[in-house]
Order: sequence, then C-alpha cells, then structure tokens
Amino acid sequence: MELSIKNLVHIFFPERCVICERQLLKSEKTLCVVCRHELPLTGFTNESDNEMERSFTGRSRILAATALLYFYKKGSVQTLIHELKYRGHQEIGTFLGKWLGEEIRSSKRFKVPEMIVPVPLHPKKLKKRTYNQVAEFGKSLSETLNIPFVESVLKRNIYTETQTYKHRIDRFQNTKNIFEVNDLRTCQGKHILLIDDVQTTGATLEACCNELQKIPGIKISIATMAYTP
Ligand SMILES: [Zn+2]
Repeated sequence: MELSIKNLVHIFFPERCVICERQLLKSEKTLCVVCRHELPLTGFTNESDNEMERSFTGRSRILAATALLYFYKKGSVQTLIHELKYRGHQEIGTFLGKWLGEEIRSSKRFKVPEMIVPVPLHPKKLKKRTYNQVAEFGKSLSETLNIPFVESVLKRNIYTETQTYKHRIDRFQNTKNIFEVNDLRTCQGKHILLIDDVQTTGATLEACCNELQKIPGIKISIATMAYTP
C-alpha cells in the first residue's frame, strides 16, 4: 500500500459515519454503506401529485415539489440534519444536494428550474450559527443541475425563535411578513427552485412562496433535504 499523506491521515484520524459513528472505509464518505442504504427515500421526484405537493394545495401555487428523505423524530435523518445544522458538518448538505440533483436531472417529471433560491436565515441567526445550513445543499444542487445558486433574492426581516405552535394557521400567522423579496428583477419570468432543509408544516416555504409570487411571471418548484410526513 502506498503510504501517502492522505493514507496516513486516514490511519490516525479516521473519518466516522455521521449517523452510526462507525469508522468509515476509504471508499466511503460522510456515511457508511449500511446507513446510506437504510435512509428513508421519498421517491417524490418521480411521483406526480405526491404528498408534499398536495400539502401546498390551496396554500401556494407551485409547479412541483420534492424532498430526498423522510424525516422522523429520533430517526437517522434527524441525526443527519442535527449534525448539519449544529455540529458544522456542512459536507452533509453537499452529499444530499448531489444526490437530489442527480435525481432531478434524470427525472422525466420534475422540470429542471433556471435558478436556485434558498430560504434565508435572519442575519442575527446567521452570525450565531456562522453558516446557512442550506447553503452547501444549494451549491451542490447548483453544480449538479448546472444552474445558478442566488442567495440574495429573499431576505428575512423578523428574527424568530424556533416555533412551537402546532397548528398550521398559528404557524402561518406567525410567519406572515417574515420574508421580503430583495430584488425583483433576477427572477422575473423565471422558473426557480426554492430550497430548505426540512419541511415540517410547510409554513416557512408557504410564506416564501407568497412573497416570491409578487415577482411577475415567476414559477416556483420546491426541493428540501427532508419532508415530515
Ligand atoms: Zn453508519
């Protein structure tokens, strides 16, 4: 075996699977093969009128929606998102973005949009967390789909603590006016892909869509890392 610096680093500081913490093989990245195969895939990209799209009926006009994974409380996807959001494991976003991007690119149903727009963090939260957890996901989708990732379209006006309201109406009222379109021109007449980490009630995505729909001729599709059934 060739003893390169990379090999030595691997021997002394082995990478671990972000879900089960087993030592990764050199051929594995971010997740071990077992955890990767056990991820609960939704299959939404190739499913017309899927559960996620139906959740927007009567709320927002969208072309299509997809999420790579199902999010269950205390499940492996919750671990994955937690590691990404709070433990600095931004490579998880890269990994999920590439996977979902390839799914979208090869889908006959899901039309490839013209640009990617993330749900923004409030500047205060961005400072606290130092990165937007959807940024690497967005960049990775952007590379795979060969479309630009534009972070400046939406801005967040109100700093909200984690919402605990259970009811959709409460959540909607709570998210009203939180977002604002920064720049009307970039997305005019364009088909955009609005992205976020996890869709729970959909209130955040709905609030963003309602703002974005003020842009003339805009069409919106949605993609998230995970969806809560
Ligand atoms: Zn594992």
